[in-house]
Amino acid sequence: MMNRKTSEILYREALEHIVGGVNSPSRSFKAVGGGAPVFMDKAQGAYFWDADGNQYIDYLAAYGPIITGHAHPHITKAITEAAANGVLYGTPTALEIKLARMLKEAIPSMDKVRFVNSGTEAVMTTIRVARAYTKRNKIIKFAGCYHGHSDLVLVAAGSGPSTLGIPDSAGIPTSIANEVITVPFNDLDCLREALEHWGEDVAAVMVEPIVGNFGMVMPESGFLEGLCRMARANGSLVIYDEVITAFRFHYGSTQTYAGLDNLDAIQPDLTALGKIIGGGLPIGAYGGSKQVMEQVAPLGPAYQAGTMAGNPASISAGIACLEVLQGEGVYEEMERLAVKLTDGLQAAAERHGVPMTINRIRGAFSTHFCDHPVTNYEEAQDTDGEAFAAFFRHMLDRGINLAPSKYEAWFLTTAHTDADIDTTLEAADESLRLMAQGK
Ligand code: PMP
Repeated sequence: MMNRKTSEILYREALEHIVGGVNSPSRSFKAVGGGAPVFMDKAQGAYFWDADGNQYIDYLAAYGPIITGHAHPHITKAITEAAANGVLYGTPTALEIKLARMLKEAIPSMDKVRFVNSGTEAVMTTIRVARAYTKRNKIIKFAGCYHGHSDLVLVAAGSGPSTLGIPDSAGIPTSIANEVITVPFNDLDCLREALEHWGEDVAAVMVEPIVGNFGMVMPESGFLEGLCRMARANGSLVIYDEVITAFRFHYGSTQTYAGLDNLDAIQPDLTALGKIIGGGLPIGAYGGSKQVMEQVAPLGPAYQAGTMAGNPASISAGIACLEVLQGEGVYEEMERLAVKLTDGLQAAAERHGVPMTINRIRGAFSTHFCDHPVTNYEEAQDTDGEAFAAFFRHMLDRGINLAPSKYEAWFLTTAHTDADIDTTLEAADESLRLMAQGK
């Protein structure tokens, strides 16, 4: 058993000063049986060292941004140089143009871009812009898709298309929740019904075009195409939340991903970005066609601003991260390691008689403790959370750091090696063996 005494002491201390002891609820171990989360001390490449000096192989990648591994030298250099030049100007800089150009080249549906500080802000603003443009109020979203913690999108509950939103958080007025309609992912019939019912009230249909928040879930063939067609026929905009997916599977986003059919027919009006595009520093961005983006102040009536937006440190880190991702064969190598890892995990699960469904998209995947496919939120909910919690804890004790939630993905980074995969598979074999014994 690994000694994590210092983490336990730090957790007790943190509870005294920080609500719940964590600065984001997803970091707590509540979903995996509670207790002290691990307090990490240092990170380098694919590894973490905790406050007791234990080493871990990391597949959390900070929930996605750390695709080049921790403290990548090219990004560290960019951040150091930016810091030495002054971290915040409150004026425009040439750097912002460079990153905006890089994003536009990779994601051509964006004629114009605006930088903000988080994925939450990016999504929140796309909704405002869509409302300003269409002069309508309602949003259709998909159950289980997470779009940050702003009022409107924290509504995910409700299965039928005519069900009005029930907020997932206290403090959200019913009047706001009533502006959201939730339908199941991959279900065009429900979307059609919702659009028929709410028609001219719907400003936008918002979706994670490849889902990253109830496992990694691909859109079924024709889903995004049907979504775009129906939304447009209704005069609604299409918003893609690509906060997780942009630059995750290839140098581009879902809307430019060769793994999907008919890309011309699945281009959104607005895109929200975050995570990877900041190289690990706080960032968000949104963009879309010139016509739609001209709604934004100072050109148009939709107001959005930010003291920290486009700060030189985040922008420099983002540019450096994308430069690393432009390297030859970077995504192919992450995929190769992910295939090796998922093949090994599936074989180990079968060996020990533990049901496991793996959804892998290039270098990212999710492991679901169930014996059915996971194509929507309902199916993701209907998986064994206790089995996941046991697996998570056994893996942690063997030096493998995963997200403490059955819904989150494993992310390969450019820093992982074959040796890391071998070590991980040994830990998984042992963990699954223990689980088969009811431990
Ligand atoms: N959209 C998606 C798809 C996300 O996964 C997240 C964060 N996990 C967000 C939005 C919110 O981003 P942030 O945490 O940077 O506010």
